[in-house]
Amino acid sequence: MIEYILPKDRPISFISVLDKVRDIIAKVKEEGDKAIIDYTAKFDNYLLSDIKANQDEIKSQASLLDDNVRNAIDIIYDQLTDFHKSMMPPNSGGGKNGIEFGVVWKPIEKVGIYVPGGIKTYPSTLLMAGIPAKIAGVKEIYVATPKEKVDPAIAYISIRLNIRGIYKIGGAQAIAALAYGTESVKKVDKIVGPGNIYVQAAKYLVSENVGIDGIEGPTELVVIADDSANPENVALDLLAQGEHGKTSFLVLISTSEFLVNRIKSMLPNEGNFYIIKVNNIDEAIQIANDIAPEHLSIATSSPLQLLSKISNAGAITLGNTPPALIDYCAGPDHILPTNGWARFKGGITVFDFLKPLSYVISEKPEKNLIKAAMILANYEGFNFHSKSIGARYE
Ligand code: NAD
Repeated sequence: MIEYILPKDRPISFISVLDKVRDIIAKVKEEGDKAIIDYTAKFDNYLLSDIKANQDEIKSQASLLDDNVRNAIDIIYDQLTDFHKSMMPPNSGGGKNGIEFGVVWKPIEKVGIYVPGGIKTYPSTLLMAGIPAKIAGVKEIYVATPKEKVDPAIAYISIRLNIRGIYKIGGAQAIAALAYGTESVKKVDKIVGPGNIYVQAAKYLVSENVGIDGIEGPTELVVIADDSANPENVALDLLAQGEHGKTSFLVLISTSEFLVNRIKSMLPNEGNFYIIKVNNIDEAIQIANDIAPEHLSIATSSPLQLLSKISNAGAITLGNTPPALIDYCAGPDHILPTNGWARFKGGITVFDFLKPLSYVISEKPEKNLIKAAMILANYEGFNFHSKSIGARYE
């Protein structure tokens, strides 16, 4: 349905299923593989004989991949690799007051990538998470995706990425298995990847025990458009993000009465479509910043001039550039924050797979600094802290 008043909160959110998902997680913790097999039969309608795909299945499924699709994946693989490599931080260091300090970046050891598979299949998501993980140096990467047989493109990409295991499971049960481990599923240090409200609720709940990359689903798009925008293209962008499922949150904010009416006639009656007519672009930007959407498209005559006014968005496409370019091949990641999490984080980068290990060494720190440390430690009542410093340097 097309609405003209924005809801205060997201129309569909993982918050609504937290209780149900808490029960699923508890059962997986208690029963391990048995619970996963039962939930897969219940929610995904297939009976698992093996939770983990064996190497023969992965190889034979990869061999089924059409040459055209394999070439497309190779081209995109190169493009994403360049983007993510460009973000790799160098180790850094310096010194002050006789103290040498620095940071050594270390990869997370074991990562689980959730690749959605309920409504559609998402090999592109495996590229978007697997490439930065590999560049960061993650040694053990595992994949969970709810398909009875491994999708050929996912099989091919997993061979290129040297994935350690593909688990043919999805939903909250897959996230619980990766977070706590079962007989067949390896416990990981961090779980990344998009998914529906059950997947995101599970990530949120298991974050007491493992790292998560954030909340990424259901998909969101806000388009800011003026008279200069092409209505057909804007409608296509909204429809495209609606392809993820009826839960997508899709908003058009426009200064143009003509555009609003034209696009209205091109949108279906089903789904979460919102159209907001505003008086000027500043009003549109204010609303977009308040929403903090996953995807923001600025389809106006001078989009680059507006970029500095945007503070909250997962990824931004400017002018006539389609948001789907980010979804597939531009370089920046398509795994992007939803539910307003773009207020405090962005899309996946190598930093999601790296930890800054900081170090210091000092033989002879400046007296003034040492004194300052001891005064503050004593002020806080940490006398042994103070003494342990004084014993070395006083
Ligand atoms: P999915 O793999 O996320 O979810 C499917 C799983 O949900 C199933 O395996 C099943 O176990 C579980 N499930 C389904 N119904 C359930 C129920 N009633 N109770 C408990 N569990 C249930 O696949 P999907 O459903 O196609 O969703 C993919 C989602 O990912 C979409 O919402 C899409 O918008 C989102 N997405 C987000 C981003 C992003 O970065 N923000 C990117 C791509 C996709």
